[in-house]
Amino acid sequence: MRDGDLLRIGLPEAVSRVLAGLAGTDADAVLVGGCVRDLVHREQPKDWDVATSAPPEAVAAAFPGSTWQNPFGTVTVRGDPPVEVTTFRVEEGYRDRRRPDTVRWGTSLEEDLARRDFTINAMAWRPVDLAAGEGRLVDPHGGAADLERRLLRAVGDPGQRLAEDALRLVRAVRFAVRYDLALEPATEAAIRDHAPDAALLSGERVREELLRMLAFPTASKAFLLMEELGLLAVLLPELAALRGIPQAKRLPGDALDHSLRTVDALPAGDARLRLAGLLHDVGKASTLADGHFIGHELQGARLAEQALRRLRLPNADIGWIRRLVRHHMFNYTPDWTDAAVRRFVRRVGADLLADLFALRAADNAASGAEEPEAGGLEELRARVDRVLAGDPLDQRQLAVDGHDLVRALGVQPGPVVGRLLDRLLEAVLEDPSLNRRERLLELAADLLREPGSARGAGAHREA
Ligand code: ATP
Ligand code: MG
Repeated sequence: MRDGDLLRIGLPEAVSRVLAGLAGTDADAVLVGGCVRDLVHREQPKDWDVATSAPPEAVAAAFPGSTWQNPFGTVTVRGDPPVEVTTFRVEEGYRDRRRPDTVRWGTSLEEDLARRDFTINAMAWRPVDLAAGEGRLVDPHGGAADLERRLLRAVGDPGQRLAEDALRLVRAVRFAVRYDLALEPATEAAIRDHAPDAALLSGERVREELLRMLAFPTASKAFLLMEELGLLAVLLPELAALRGIPQAKRLPGDALDHSLRTVDALPAGDARLRLAGLLHDVGKASTLADGHFIGHELQGARLAEQALRRLRLPNADIGWIRRLVRHHMFNYTPDWTDAAVRRFVRRVGADLLADLFALRAADNAASGAEEPEAGGLEELRARVDRVLAGDPLDQRQLAVDGHDLVRALGVQPGPVVGRLLDRLLEAVLEDPSLNRRERLLELAADLLREPGSARGAGAHREA
């Protein structure tokens, strides 16, 4: 496919209407960016972007009900799918390597394409016959040929383009892996040169790129390429530090290879779980000294949290991943009693179990460990299910509550009651047959008579 070639595409009615509407106002209106790349690549586009010579006010006026997001002059035209219409523009400045100092509108399509990052993203499709879905490819930078020969190349001078906006460093990796492209040598050299600039990026922008790469079926490729280019050490130093840290010998590679295999073994659609897989062993680099990684899950939970805060992940997700990393090292053996299984569930939290088992299964697979006949993950999962179906696990399921203790035993309301309930729960976890009202009240009375009992300790602390 060459610049000016006729390209027939399947155009959604809503998109066709926007292009026709703008043409009706005498404006130039074309498809641009990702959708053209996908069409040339014979893939169904995810979203449809239109670029036009019409100023945003005119676009908004032509399509009542559309919304105009300042300051970039992108108008979203309502419909199925919604269409983003952006006025041709040039961006200038980039003194902070993150965003342009000025944006200028009302230029030509050629200028608009020249400001884009990579040749494969700098093509446009200009309609010839909308009803027939026919148009011409506008491809001044040779994006179609690059896609054909599998090359990712910066538009214009690579050094300058990668210096302007450090996000392009990360986008390069995403597009290279997504479309299986080699990096054109000058583009690759520029990425290496400018890799340290990635430290200037906002956590949010990096997060969005990383999440998109984590959704690739083989996400490991993107992380290995980032490492290769010097980006991983800047964006995720906690993870990069696992290079060279030894890993159980059944499979080749070190702790970084293992972490990336774990990611690939987890479902691509579950970003939170894949992040947990990515970071589950980050504690190993600093706990290596003892030769056994003692406490690596504690250290790992801290480091994972630190990385995820930097990426501005929502707090709920950070907390969840932290818990997964913290608990991923449980060591189940068939001689665990039911009480031990119950304590495990209580320690970990029943809500976390499905993800924790998924993480551990991926971790095991990524270590080359096979599921044993007895004492494996599936056995523990089955036992946990049985325990969860039957036995009481938290204070609310005890046959007595705080009021009962206050009324029947004359305990003062306060922390003593909570501590007594804790002790009762411990006892019931060991022996579920104790969970009857009279039996628990007897037990509570015994506990109160102990020297240094809950009552004594409580009274002491309250004094
Ligand atoms: P995807 O299919 O993953 O959405 P995309 O190419 O559509 O990929 P977007 O981030 O949606 O990516 O951006 C749309 C277009 O805007 C790109 O194709 C590219 O031409 C241009 N673009 C986006 N971000 C940048 C950037 N940081 N620097 C230069 N051009 C960019
Ligand atoms: Mg897009």
